[in-house]
Amino acid sequence: MHDARMTLERARSLVTPERHQSARAVWLRAAVLGADDAIVSTASLMIGVAASTAGRDAILVAGIAGLVAGSMSMAVGEYVSVSSQRDAERADIEGEKEELATNPEAELLELASIYRERGLDQDLAMQVATQLSAKDRLGSHLRDELGINAASLAKPLQAAWISAVSFASFAVIPILGLLVAPASLRMPTIAALSLLSLAALGAFGAYLGGAPLMRAALRVTLGGALAMFVTAAIGRLLGVSVG
Ligand SMILES: [Zn+2]
Repeated sequence: MHDARMTLERARSLVTPERHQSARAVWLRAAVLGADDAIVSTASLMIGVAASTAGRDAILVAGIAGLVAGSMSMAVGEYVSVSSQRDAERADIEGEKEELATNPEAELLELASIYRERGLDQDLAMQVATQLSAKDRLGSHLRDELGINAASLAKPLQAAWISAVSFASFAVIPILGLLVAPASLRMPTIAALSLLSLAALGAFGAYLGGAPLMRAALRVTLGGALAMFVTAAIGRLLGVSVG
């Protein structure tokens, strides 16, 4: 009894990978990247316009235009990239269905050999493959052979609106910086608020990925500072030559 139970648990742990948590982490990390992008691009745009000696209204319009344009472009970009991922998954699923229909015995052996490679002995692997196939043949092949899980299938529309909302929410940070700043401190306030948010996001992203926090925070903050500095320099040049 005890042995049978151990074997069952061993089989379970081998054939049911914990995909849920890592799928969520991947999703969150994508959202964090979109947020970095929103802060860096919107803040740079506003600082560039501010450096050209434009007034508050022009800087505000630049910020809002950046927010809207960035959200749309994120939505379209995500939609396109996740759609092609979904097309690939669909093609894999269709292919697997056809193989199962035309060559069921070879497919059962294939599944058993996957479990054997993961550490089950020959008999148990065959037993696991047979029982899983009896319950959900296609699902077992998709999950254990192709790594496709029904819960983690690519969802283009969902990816599109999540990234658009994430971009828009974080692009608000530099705009808030402008709204609260006194006239003489617009650029430093926008930059400081944006860089602080980037540092926090960098640390959060590293935390999700299990990476060192300080290094990630420093990297994204330096990258953001560089982008703002370059745009400010160009804005200043343009402001001098155009104005
Ligand atoms: Zn298969």
